[in-house]
Amino acid sequence: MFGKKANQQEAAHSTSIEDGALIDLRSVAKVYHTDAGNFTALKEVNLQIGAGEFVSIVGKSGSGKTTLINMLTGIDRPTAGEIRVAGTPVHKLGESDMATWRGRNLGVVFQFFQLLPTLTVIENVMLPMGLANLYSHRERQERAIALLDQVGMMEEADKLPNRLSGGQQQRAAIARALANDPPIIATDEPTGNLDSRTAESVMQLFGSLVDQGKTILMVTHDPALAKRAPRTITLANGELLNEFLVRALPTLTHDLLLDATRQCLATHYAPDEPIYRPQDHADHFYVITQGEVQVFAHSSAGEDVLVDSLGPGQYFGEIGLLNGSLRTVLVKAASAPVEVVALSRDMFLSLLRASGETLDEVTRSVNQRMDRLSLLGCPV
Ligand code: ADP
Ligand code: MG
Repeated sequence: MFGKKANQQEAAHSTSIEDGALIDLRSVAKVYHTDAGNFTALKEVNLQIGAGEFVSIVGKSGSGKTTLINMLTGIDRPTAGEIRVAGTPVHKLGESDMATWRGRNLGVVFQFFQLLPTLTVIENVMLPMGLANLYSHRERQERAIALLDQVGMMEEADKLPNRLSGGQQQRAAIARALANDPPIIATDEPTGNLDSRTAESVMQLFGSLVDQGKTILMVTHDPALAKRAPRTITLANGELLNEFLVRALPTLTHDLLLDATRQCLATHYAPDEPIYRPQDHADHFYVITQGEVQVFAHSSAGEDVLVDSLGPGQYFGEIGLLNGSLRTVLVKAASAPVEVVALSRDMFLSLLRASGETLDEVTRSVNQRMDRLSLLGCPV
């Protein structure tokens, strides 16, 4: 599934994200103080997003999605932790610096559009340019016309928002979000108020913005829409789930994935370093989070055969945990560094006991892998 070259690029890409992420949240927490007491809406959130990524943010209602997006747009402030966007420490900005920063760096698109009702569509799009004190009046008009053209709203430029359909209002809101050519678009349930056909056209618009190099963060509760983004991050009870565990075991409930996220341990391997060998005791289940691993087995002809190459979001180690207790294959890092997260045998087996669907999926994969081994002449 993963070409070697693509994986090396992916590994290099993740390293560069850690070094110079466009959006970088470290230990972010948010506690709301209410009459009923304190409520922790975000806990220890660590998240890095690189320039040009399209990331969907999912989670049950109340899991903290809106709180998270409000943290990184500066609409609300964290109780603890650090938020850097393109190097700017957003959590430290005062009110007026925050408004200036947001106006130039971020386009925000809301579920309920939030166009100013007394301004025409083109005036709504020109407004952020005026507020940020960017461009001459003439340029503002030209830019607004070009943006309305891009979102297919030229005809409606001089109308008031209440004369537009929901989909048209959202297109105008997207044009407004793009007014100052911000590198980042942040959006909370942008299609939550649109029918599915209109939602589709808004999603296509986001896709073309990503192709133009924009970074997009999109909160959605719709799994089908979330899948349109190459990367999905999931919140459960205010905590981020390990996104590679979610990819590896997608049928686990969010509660189980949260347990697994809390208990998994990250380990690094150097290029070509073995992770386990035949006859080793099987004690962990592994999910790859970075790089590529190779699986080798002994053939009955006495040769070492490469049986599989696995990349981020794929797992290994399940066969030894389910079919006896010793490893039968060699798994090692390929030619680039590898990071995996490991779950203990007890944790892995308790997840399978708790989720029949996951047990079925893992069993299916075990059978496929065993079939492949015998096909390649490697007795198991
Ligand atoms: P989501 O967008 O995933 O549905 P939110 O981020 O809106 O979740 O909310 C997360 C939790 O924080 C919810 O339990 C919500 O009730 C609570 N919450 C959100 N905003 C506030 C607030 N201003 N005051 C108190 N509690 C809040
Ligand atoms: Mg919300």
